[in-house]
Amino acid sequence: MSGYIKRLGERNCYETPIIWADFNTENYCRGKTCNCSQNGMCFETDNAANTDTNIRIKTLNYVPNTHGPEAFRLYEAKVKWCQDLPVKDAPRYGIGVQYLVKSQNIEGPDYQCSLCGDIIAYGEIQRIEEFVYLCGPCFKHYQSLPDGVLKKNVMDFLIGNVI
Ligand SMILES: [Zn+2]
Repeated sequence: MSGYIKRLGERNCYETPIIWADFNTENYCRGKTCNCSQNGMCFETDNAANTDTNIRIKTLNYVPNTHGPEAFRLYEAKVKWCQDLPVKDAPRYGIGVQYLVKSQNIEGPDYQCSLCGDIIAYGEIQRIEEFVYLCGPCFKHYQSLPDGVLKKNVMDFLIGNVI
């Protein structure tokens, strides 16, 4: 179908090698993505993951400024489902995740304050929307705003900064 424009967030078939581990562990195992969208991915791998746990995913073919999963080095993500694959050989599981954080930094995610731009210390992250994070002072400031047009405009600005 010519002239067909892919809509943002549509799932694309995209195979790229990754490694993943339970959050706060270094027990990385290999996998490859099979489906990706703006908000998440699924991948095939040899180990199962528990639903509703958080994992880290590192891409092995990092290519910045692209639209595939390899546009970022590191993801933190929540496991939405884990399925046995109907095969005898590896990979044996399919895992679907929703992204919590995307990062260009392999050492750890850059949680940047969506308002002031500062890197946020890990314990101080305030997540107020999908991919909208505020540092402690900005969050206090945001919270102190009365509900109304100003607060809504600030939120629109924050979301606009991210997307
Ligand atoms: Zn801030």
